[in-house]
Amino acid sequence: MALIVQKYGGTSVGSVERIQAVAQRVKGWRDRGDQVVVVVSAMSGETDRLIGLAKSIQERPSPRELNVLLSTGEQVTIALLAMALDTLGCTARSYTGAQVQVLTDSAHNKARIRDIDGARVRADLDAGRVVVVAGFQGIDEHGNITTLGRGGSDTSAVAMAAALKADECQIYTDVDGVYTTDPRILPEARRVTKISYDEMLELASLGAGVMHNRSIEFAKKFNVPIHVRSSLSDITGTMIVDQPELPNQAAVS
Ligand code: ASP
Ligand code: MG
Repeated sequence: MALIVQKYGGTSVGSVERIQAVAQRVKGWRDRGDQVVVVVSAMSGETDRLIGLAKSIQERPSPRELNVLLSTGEQVTIALLAMALDTLGCTARSYTGAQVQVLTDSAHNKARIRDIDGARVRADLDAGRVVVVAGFQGIDEHGNITTLGRGGSDTSAVAMAAALKADECQIYTDVDGVYTTDPRILPEARRVTKISYDEMLELASLGAGVMHNRSIEFAKKFNVPIHVRSSLSDITGTMIVDQPELPNQAAVS
């Protein structure tokens, strides 16, 4: 039995049908006997829509209120996914970042995670439940809702995996792994099967944009094995680990 944290991005939960497909996938892991914590993003386009709403009222909304608003995107997805799991007979509970005490500093819109209290999540896992946690958000020491910056759900997932000492953090996205260049731009790009944290950080600084940069820093610090894979296929994807097995098997260009 393994403890796995899975993160599904906005495209992977972009419609009711996709949320149902995610639920099927999660159930597959549960049926194999694994404990699963799922971290989700807002449905694709939702965060932009919320920012648009805020800006239609106030050119510079207060960061505190903007974060109260933005955190709702992920809250929609966690509830819908928990319902979809329930219809499959897979008991699940959803939690906002604040509910599972994702404690951050007070830097609204770019908050850093300081600590996560894994006790509540562990109790649910031990009771046989799937735990669904809202990515991208936390709470500061004064009880204010914070968000981690665009793309921050990756960091939520890695931090959760570190806090729970999970065996693996799986990042499900709309590409089937890490490519030497963006496959949507260059069709002949090659998928890398294994890459080190440092190489991945280098890729990110080149603007590869596969994962939130801070999530890789977090993974490196706490030595969390990451598996980047597609939510639309069963291809193995890319492992991000401390040391790639084969030295420079596909050098990052
Ligand atoms: N929903 C947030 C965003 O669009 C966070 C995330 O997707 O990781 O940036
Ligand atoms: Mg992303």
